[in-house]
Amino acid sequence: MKGLVYKSTGSWYTVKSNAGKFYDCRIKGKFRMEGIKSTNPVAVGDTVEFEIETIGDETIGIISKIDKRDNYIIRKSVNLSKQTHIIAANVDIAFLLVTLNNPPTFTTFIDRFLVTTEAYHIKAVLLFNKIDTYNEDEILEVKYLAALYRSIGYECLGISAETGKNIDKVKEMMQDKVVMFSGHSGVGKSTLANALEPTLELKTKKISAQHSQGQHTTTFAEMYDLDFGAKIIDTPGIKGFGVVEMEKEEIGDYFPEFFALKQECKFNNCLHIEEPKCAVKDALEEDKLAWSRYKSYVQIVEGDEEHFRKDIYEK
Ligand code: GDP
Ligand code: ZN
Repeated sequence: MKGLVYKSTGSWYTVKSNAGKFYDCRIKGKFRMEGIKSTNPVAVGDTVEFEIETIGDETIGIISKIDKRDNYIIRKSVNLSKQTHIIAANVDIAFLLVTLNNPPTFTTFIDRFLVTTEAYHIKAVLLFNKIDTYNEDEILEVKYLAALYRSIGYECLGISAETGKNIDKVKEMMQDKVVMFSGHSGVGKSTLANALEPTLELKTKKISAQHSQGQHTTTFAEMYDLDFGAKIIDTPGIKGFGVVEMEKEEIGDYFPEFFALKQECKFNNCLHIEEPKCAVKDALEEDKLAWSRYKSYVQIVEGDEEHFRKDIYEK
């Protein structure tokens, strides 16, 4: 049978068959994904093959194969171990909810998020939430930010999860897709989920009750079907996500507007910091690039990496 993984704890996996039935599954014997060492070889969002086994009066599925992933997001424990955990696989869109205040979302945070989505090959969309609360100046600021990020190639949308403004457009973007929500605590992720599907909270409870394997039920990512035809992956306690291994030299490649100029830099391994005849710095001086983006870039390249990681992985 073929199915889609809705939940992964590292020992148990909840898989929905193509026929729409949920199965509790385990991984076959020594079977392991090649390449990545992680605490959960099978992740939420994986499509898998599994066989049904009946042991006593219990029916479980045994996963024997994982299909090739389009992408996956990993998380590394900062303090405890060097093990990685695959948060999700095959994510179509990552939404970043942004608010100007209550709480403030700084451009450095937005840019770090975008670096990671670029590195993971996941389409990112910026949703500027709570626009119902903004005064004229704040509206201008949102417009400035949206224009900046659109010019780089990112879709941006002003919304209000509270009043329902542009929620129809959010649904349109999400149609038939697997979507993840990110953003600081308090930006409105739960309110948005609720606006998209008011009964989601109920559904959440029902699914976890049905498949509770005891402990940890709230600490693992889980996928939910929305009635209008989309899936969301809920990642409790995870504020954002980050790239575990990233070389200094590749960070610039994840700033698309810098990457586009890289060929014009004198040195082909230009970091756009100290080097002479740098096309990125020239463009900055001519105000063709945003200084806020450059500031974020330098912070990631030079900045204390520990801070970068912590910022992203901290629960
Ligand atoms: P989360 O931590 O990202 O899940 O944020 P919540 O969904 O819990 O929202 C935090 C607070 O912001 C709640 O009091 C919401 O009612 C409020 N909120 C969320 N979205 C909006 C919005 O679009 N407009 C206004 N005025 N308040 C909002
Ligand atoms: Zn350069």
